[in-house]
Amino acid sequence: MVTCKMCLLNSVFPNIRFDDTGVCNFCRHYEKYASRIENRDFLRKSFVKRIERIKRLYEYDCLLGISGGKDSSYVLYMLKNRYKLRVLTYTFDNGFLSDYALENINNMVSSFGVDHFFYKPDWEFHKKLYRYMMKVFGIPCKGCSVGAYGTSFKFAFERNIPLVVHGRTPAQIFREFAPESSDPAVPFVESNLLEFDEKRNLQTLMSVVERLTGLLSGGSKEKSGLMDEMIKVFFPDFFEVLGSDMIPEFLGYFIYHDYNEDFIKKFLGENTIWKPSEDESSSHSDCLIHDAVEYIRYKMFGYTILRPELSVAVRQGRISREEALKLVETEESSIRKPGYSLKVLCERLDLDCNTLLGELNK
Ligand SMILES: [Zn+2]
Repeated sequence: MVTCKMCLLNSVFPNIRFDDTGVCNFCRHYEKYASRIENRDFLRKSFVKRIERIKRLYEYDCLLGISGGKDSSYVLYMLKNRYKLRVLTYTFDNGFLSDYALENINNMVSSFGVDHFFYKPDWEFHKKLYRYMMKVFGIPCKGCSVGAYGTSFKFAFERNIPLVVHGRTPAQIFREFAPESSDPAVPFVESNLLEFDEKRNLQTLMSVVERLTGLLSGGSKEKSGLMDEMIKVFFPDFFEVLGSDMIPEFLGYFIYHDYNEDFIKKFLGENTIWKPSEDESSSHSDCLIHDAVEYIRYKMFGYTILRPELSVAVRQGRISREEALKLVETEESSIRKPGYSLKVLCERLDLDCNTLLGELNK
């Protein structure tokens, strides 16, 4: 087992490579962009410019996906109150939204007085996609992220909304930030770090689509059938997009703004009716299968998501490598089987839980 000399990633991490000096491709790619990522002054101005470019041109200025979690709730507050944007919000119902998430979504939408809609794909299709992703990646999550990314773009395009904003944290944005990774959003991140350019916006979109379809490419009938269906359900008609003079831009709010989890929780507590989760043991109480996924990931590959996420913090100098390694090892050694979350996952995806657990314990 090789571990990167600079971060916490080791040879079990998907699509990792090490150079002659023992440093991984994720550290090297981050390094290439570090001066831009850390140039807060340029980024703040760049965000304002992007907003000024599109403000008040259409019925809505931007589309924001909200999950009921703290980050998207905070972003909604800022877009509406600080930047004075006309925001349309929507929730991609991945089939695993918790009651806690639903309550926060309804509370935020009504107290902020913003328009909102839910979108839930046909369950038979979505289940097939999740099961397929499990077969390929071990976990179902790409079946949700592809849908959330794709439909946010689709709805923005179809409704003439020039901006799509998302509230992924820096750890989520940069944890698979390298061309070799399976994160389809890498080209969006790279282009967010530069000034807006209309031509580049279209090229970026095309490379994201290429990466997305790459996730599902291959020869088998099952794959290509699923791919056709996925494109039809999650994406706009690309011939229409190519012929349009309004192609939405996709922006990560926390590429341009500082992120501090404690500050956000405190801010929401003082300024909104957003409620923190009562379940302190789960950091993602908006998704019912989050804990099951982390358990499967650990049993199957030997790491939890904390490892790539803290690796981002190490690269950014927010925490020392030694300190981060200790945190990761503590979490990994104390991971327990999350009974309820596994039950939900197996029931909804028609999986046999004993077979799944048997596979994991091999
Ligand atoms: Zn590394």
